[in-house]
Amino acid sequence: MLKKAIAVVTSGGDSPGMNAAARAVVRTAIYEGVDVYGIHNGYSGMVHDDIEKLTTRSVSDLIQRGGTFLGTARSKSFMTPEGRKTAFENLRKRGIEGLVIIGGDGSLTGGSLLSKETGMPIVGLPGTIDNDVWGMDYTIGCDTACNTIVDAINKLRDTASAHRRIILVEVMGRHSGWLAMMSGIAGGAEYILVPEVAYDLEEISCELKEMYEAGKRYSIIVVAEGAGSAVEIGKIIREKTEIDTRVSVLGHIQRGGSPTVEDRIKASMLGEKAALAIISGVSDVVYSFNEGQVVGVNLFEAVNNTKTLDPELVRLSRVLA
Ligand code: ATP
Repeated sequence: MLKKAIAVVTSGGDSPGMNAAARAVVRTAIYEGVDVYGIHNGYSGMVHDDIEKLTTRSVSDLIQRGGTFLGTARSKSFMTPEGRKTAFENLRKRGIEGLVIIGGDGSLTGGSLLSKETGMPIVGLPGTIDNDVWGMDYTIGCDTACNTIVDAINKLRDTASAHRRIILVEVMGRHSGWLAMMSGIAGGAEYILVPEVAYDLEEISCELKEMYEAGKRYSIIVVAEGAGSAVEIGKIIREKTEIDTRVSVLGHIQRGGSPTVEDRIKASMLGEKAALAIISGVSDVVYSFNEGQVVGVNLFEAVNNTKTLDPELVRLSRVLA
């Protein structure tokens, strides 16, 4: 049976393209004659009843904006069964019969528990710059974040070359090296340090010294934050090589900015897909792209499996360095 009312929530860290996805969910639902509610500030708004009925106008002037117009938050109370029960009651009292969750691994895990405990139908979209959701090679926002990082690397290269410096660029990725690996390859980095792969600073420093002695003018080392502090690594490399070494920690600029065309188009396609699926009775599925095709991955499999870094990318990064 078709649903009469659905809701959409953005949760966890914001990512560019979340707005495009939420906009597509809202407009598709309205096009299909279904009421659509927006939940403010992630699961926190669901627990604290900060929920609003949306119109086509609610999502005007949004596709080009980073962040999320709904707001997002990290909610401790949603981590408890009582919090999730309250959240469910707040949805049910409005006649909401299905929920689209746009968020990362943690948000989808929370959604899987809500589904299991309350029976609320859930469809997920991977909204995270980390590209770390199992079963798919695309997450909403990763392409934009990579472009932001590559833009920074391009600029840092200029000054590195002028001064014959080594520059370390610290990027996000506490547990996952995807962002570092993709932006590092695209930015032509000499070394890419990720949490998944062991590295030897003694060896790296020796190689750098040899390269500079042979005339090299600059090098870029991309460091995922989970691989260690770029500031500390930079200090060690400076000591060992005696080459002028500088560190740039990119921080939150990686999350912001106008989404790329890829993120806008894919988020829009996935938003429509998610809305149509939840309206028609699908539940416990995360939609994304894999190898260019739209895929529906079982929600529980998506959250109970860990996506590993592609060894092909690791190999390529070494060949091209
Ligand atoms: P990002 O990948 O950008 O960090 P995320 O969705 O993984 O995004 P988290 O902070 O891990 O971000 O999760 C967002 C929210 O989802 C949490 O604040 C919490 O409310 C809920 N959540 C996360 N993990 C769980 C869990 N194991 N059980 C229940 N709820 C959870």
